[in-house]
Parts: sequence; structure tokens; C-alpha cells
Amino acid sequence: MTGKPPHDNSSTKGTALVIGAGFGGIAAALRLRALGYKVQVVDRAPMLGGRAQVFERDGYRHDAGPTVITAPFLFEELFTLYGKKLEDYVELRELEPWYRFYFADGDTFDYGGTVEQTLAEIGRFSESDKQGYLKLLDHSRKIFDAGFSRLADQPFHSVWRLLAAGPKLFMLQTYNSVWQMVSKYISHPKVRQAFSIQPLLVGGNPFDTTSIYGLIHFLERKWGVFFAMGGTGALVASLGQLMSDAGIEVRLNTTVKQIQVEAGVATGAILESGEVIAADMVVSNVDPMYLYRHMLPADIQSTAVKLKQRKAQLSMGLFVLYFGTTRQYPEVAHHTIWMGERYQSLLDEIFASVPSHELPRDRLTGASLTIIDALTAAGLCRTRGEARRIVAQRGAYVNNRPVEDIEIQLGETDLASPSVMVLRCGKKRYALLRFT
Ligand SMILES: Cc1cc2nc3c(=O)[nH]c(=O)nc-3n(C[C@H](O)[C@H](O)[C@H](O)COP(=O)(O)OP(=O)(O)OC[C@H]3O[C@@H](n4cnc5c(N)ncnc54)[C@H](O)[C@@H]3O)c2cc1C
Repeated sequence: MTGKPPHDNSSTKGTALVIGAGFGGIAAALRLRALGYKVQVVDRAPMLGGRAQVFERDGYRHDAGPTVITAPFLFEELFTLYGKKLEDYVELRELEPWYRFYFADGDTFDYGGTVEQTLAEIGRFSESDKQGYLKLLDHSRKIFDAGFSRLADQPFHSVWRLLAAGPKLFMLQTYNSVWQMVSKYISHPKVRQAFSIQPLLVGGNPFDTTSIYGLIHFLERKWGVFFAMGGTGALVASLGQLMSDAGIEVRLNTTVKQIQVEAGVATGAILESGEVIAADMVVSNVDPMYLYRHMLPADIQSTAVKLKQRKAQLSMGLFVLYFGTTRQYPEVAHHTIWMGERYQSLLDEIFASVPSHELPRDRLTGASLTIIDALTAAGLCRTRGEARRIVAQRGAYVNNRPVEDIEIQLGETDLASPSVMVLRCGKKRYALLRFT
């Protein structure tokens, strides 16, 4: 749909409230506005962008999250809706190479550019894998056709649509892992590694993530891999400008406590401040698990939805190390991936399932959580007596720091991440406590 930018926020369709101003929420807001809704976006954070926020420290500016863009047309579409061009707002430049791999023995592998360039790089490792790569790319294209072209803009809650695509995806053996798919066509261990890391980008283990993610090979080939000049924050800023031009109202520092539901229909949102924002349509772009667990009344959720929440496994999170420098490093490509000496065994260790238990967040305040409580709640000790004994023997650790005091109280400062505490007994028995 193209059209003139509606500079005011008047409505022809009704009102829409979008919760979350990450890329997803911003895109939803722009699309709804273009359809004629009067749109308001709220976000609890002080700035737009969600995981793609920018922060500054000690004079250095950091993109907190994404650094590469793999489907630029999705951004271009948003500008086209308002008769504008993305390139008039921000420059997306294709990376060369898309990725550079450094292996532990000093070998490098540049991936990207033309197919011929990639084949030349593969040839440095294995001549026979050049043909294999072309077959891998063809297989990836077929998965892309079935899994992305047909399903990417379809509601995934529609079982029928999934079933319709199912036989095709089954024929493409998407029950195999990404590693199995790559290994079928590629034999050199380093090239196998380079072409199987994609699930790691979404917190999945290449050795057990469905090869549907193998479609990324073709996706990258089709559109390339880009960087927004000025950083991903520049892209967020350009979308903020577009929302402002479109007359979309944005309220930051505004936390939604609950979605207001009346007779089974979402009618607005209740803010933490107690204010209610009424809307004809409510779009949530917060993490789905958080939405269902904390923002939607349990009594309106079907048994199937509740069951799904209980069974669902969250994907792996990540630690990000930010650093600033005034030097240039010509040998380091924009997207450089350092591989260690081990691959599968390292991933096995990283993804080994660590038992995780939830506690209410208020246990972290008011000195109500002792190390003994934590060890028993995490299931690492069966009894408080056992927990006391282990702490006394200096065998208990919080975030890998030994606990020396049996009376110690744990609080917010003992978290390893905003909501997780890592507990360990002895050398290898780990458990996580999640505070929600
Ligand atoms: C370190 C890192 C690197 C990444 N690199 C890449 C990359 O290079 N390329 C790529 O394509 N993807 C990358 N990703 C993934 C990408 O960042 C995300 O998929 C994308 O930003 C998610 O956007 P979103 O709008 O769905 O969610 P989010 O960005 O998480 O937005 C959700 C928003 O909801 C708000 N919110 C939550 N709860 C409430 C509430 N109760 N009330 C009000 N607001 C609320 C949050 O503040 C947030 O702003 C990366 C992610 C990370 C973390």
C-alpha cells in the first residue's frame, strides 16, 4: 500500500495501541497508521528500539543489540507505505565480507560477496565442497520457499497454514538438525562449522535446531547482509522520524501492567501508574512468554495456551561484552566470529540443560532469601541441613563466586543478569534461579 503520509493522527478505522517500541512494535504501528488507525505506541524504556537501543558510556556509543540487517526490504516497505524512501533517511551498506571466521589455528574464512567468491574461499579448504555448497544453497532455497516465502507473513497460530506447509517441509527433511543438513553436503570440518552457526544467532544449538533455520543461507544470498551507517541506532532513529511524520504518538517510560480484556476482547491496557489506555485494537510486541505469564489474565487463557507455556523451553540468552577503542583494526571484519578449538563438545557443554526454578522477584528484597533458601529452592540440596553442610565446606557458589558465610542474604546485587542467579554446588552441579 502506498499513500501520502497522514501528518495528523486522526482515525478512519479506530484506535490502536501498540505495546513495545522495538523493531516489531514500530513496524506494527507504522502499518496500522497507514491503514488508517489512530496509533499510540507505549514502551517502558526511555528510548525507542527495544533490543536495538543505543547507549553511551565514557564517550563511546554502542549499539546494544543487532548489528547486521539481513532482510532490508522489510524496512524499505515501511517507508514505501508513506511514499518515502529509506535511503533518504539512512544508508544501508552491504558488508564485505558478511562474516569473517577466525579458527583457533589461525585459518580464516570469509563468507559473503558473490557465489563465485564464496566458492573460491571454500576451495582453499576443500575442492569437493564447492559442488556441495551449491547443493546446500539449492536445498536452502527450497526451505526458504516453503518456510519463509509462504509462512513468514502468515499467522503461526493458524494450525491449518502450518499443516499446509508441513508436507513440503517434511520432504525437505527439516526434522534433521542444521548440522546434519550442512554435513550432508559439506565434508571439511571448518567449512561445516562456518555454515552451521546460524542457529546460534537465535539462541539455538546447531546440533539440535531444526534445519528450517538453514533457510538463512539462501536469505542472505537473496538480499545480502547490511549495516546501517551510523549504527543500527541510526535505523531506529529514522523509523522514529517516520513515526513522527506519520503522526503516531509515542509514550516512553510507560510500563503496561496488564492488557485490559472485556468479554474475551482486548480493549486497552492498564499502566503501572493505574492509568487505563482504551483502544479498539491492542498489539503486544513484548516477549510472548512474559505477555502470557504476566500481562494477560490467566482466566481468559485456554488450557492449550497454558499447557504450551508450561512445556515451552526458552531459547538460550547471551552475554554481550561492549568495549570502546580509538584504534582501527583493519584485520577485523565488521562481523567477525572467532571459533574455539572445540565445536560440538563445547556446544554440548553450553547447551547442557541446567535446571531452572522460578521465585517471585520480591524475594530479592527485604533480606528474605538466604543462601540456604536459594540452594534448596534451586533443588541443589534436598534439605536445609545438607545446604548448611555444603556452604560450611565452601562448596557452594553464587555466580561462580564461593560463598564463605552461611548467614549470607542474597539480593538484587547477586544477580548474574537482570533476572537470573547462577548457583553451583561443587565443580559441576549447576542450577539457575529466575526471579519473575
Ligand atoms: C546482542 C544481540 C544481537 C543481535 N543481533 C542481531 C543482528 O545482528 N541482526 C538481527 O536481525 N537481529 C539481531 N538480534 C535480534 C534482534 O535484536 C531482535 O530480534 C529484535 O530487535 C526484536 O525486536 P522486537 O520488537 O520483536 O522486540 P524488542 O526489541 O525486545 O522490543 C520489545 C519492547 O517491548 C518493551 N516492553 C516490554 N515489556 C513492556 C511493558 N510491560 N510495557 C511497555 N513496554 C514493554 C521493551 O522495553 C522493548 O522495547 C540481536 C539481539 C541481541 C540481543
